[in-house]
Amino acid sequence: MYDLVLENIRLPNQERYHFIGIQNGIIAEISPYPLQGKAVIDGCGDLAMPPFVETHIHLDTAFTAGEPSWNQSGSILEGILLWNERKQTLTMEDVYGRARKALNQLMKFGVLYVRAIADISDERLVALKTLLKLKSDLQDIIYLQIIAFPQNGLLSCPENQERMLEAIKLGADGVSAVPHLERTREEGIESIQFCFSLAEKYGLFLHFFCDEIDDPQSRFIETVASLAISSGLEDKVTASHACAMAYYPDNYAAKLLDLIASSKIHIVACPLINTAMQGRYDSYPKGRGITRIKEMLQKNINVCIAHDDIMTPFYPLGNGNILQAAHMAAHAGHLTGMKELEELINMISINGAKALQINDYGIKVGNEANIITFPVDHAIDLIRLQPHCRYVIKKGRVLLHTNPMETVFYM
Ligand SMILES: [Zn+2]
Repeated sequence: MYDLVLENIRLPNQERYHFIGIQNGIIAEISPYPLQGKAVIDGCGDLAMPPFVETHIHLDTAFTAGEPSWNQSGSILEGILLWNERKQTLTMEDVYGRARKALNQLMKFGVLYVRAIADISDERLVALKTLLKLKSDLQDIIYLQIIAFPQNGLLSCPENQERMLEAIKLGADGVSAVPHLERTREEGIESIQFCFSLAEKYGLFLHFFCDEIDDPQSRFIETVASLAISSGLEDKVTASHACAMAYYPDNYAAKLLDLIASSKIHIVACPLINTAMQGRYDSYPKGRGITRIKEMLQKNINVCIAHDDIMTPFYPLGNGNILQAAHMAAHAGHLTGMKELEELINMISINGAKALQINDYGIKVGNEANIITFPVDHAIDLIRLQPHCRYVIKKGRVLLHTNPMETVFYM
């Protein structure tokens, strides 16, 4: 008799109902036949999946939209100015409360693996220290990686180089740069090289903000991919945003995509924030602000989709539902083929697990019993309906339960 049995659930691409037996937090058996459990949860015929993976989110800026004032232009530059002001007032209580609230939102929609970006551009490192504390406090609930991120640059703000070393000592899992915001191309490249030298020395992840600008001359991703190869760090490296790729000439893009594919780096697209923020300087037609997801998938490049911001000075919307980001990618990236819609789910699950290098990911015997269930028939309905999870289970423990919304008609 198992500790817990999850009954009447469907696994992706399987028609019949299954039963999952869980013992000591581990998936002990998956069977088409009923199993005995000390506790039993009726899965109600729901679709069961491994928890989603959020590969790029700012927990330190979450829920600060409008503080000290609203980003009226919608531009990234106004967002940075507002955040520069807001971060002067950060306290650990402030960051902890908002970050925890953001994680709760993510969990409602099935995210249990998170790569969080912590801005280190304040001299007290409040955001980073708070997120590291949160990581420790919530280790039994949610898997967190913390990336030390210099929002104001590493060359434009040289103090951030010292702060990054301090962040590594404190326990950051990875380092980041924002080369397109440095003063010159040369300084942008230097910032990338600086991060690679730290990652090699300390065995860290690299998670770059790369070419998040509507400038076809912004080509830092080629440097990231090239250094990923020469350093051997390869799949420890992620480039996020890569919006400028949409503006590159096709002949250069063809060469670049082959380079990215051979480098084994991961790409994270952030379609919510970038469709809203990019193209602000265009007249018509306006750029979509989204990288070449479709072409990268065709080259077998590991592409992930992230939610990125929840009500921040950079993006005023978002509720933590990563399926919203996938839905936006379906539209802005023209990913509406049957296989492409299914691939969108991979981009918020198994592709993300690859980028974060999560071992034992997936609903398999011997893996941790980390399972989310949705009241839908097919994975494509997840994109269309973007529902709450009915159950979120971590190591065999039910973390939360949401009853599906039901409408009563009186006509
Ligand atoms: Zn971001």
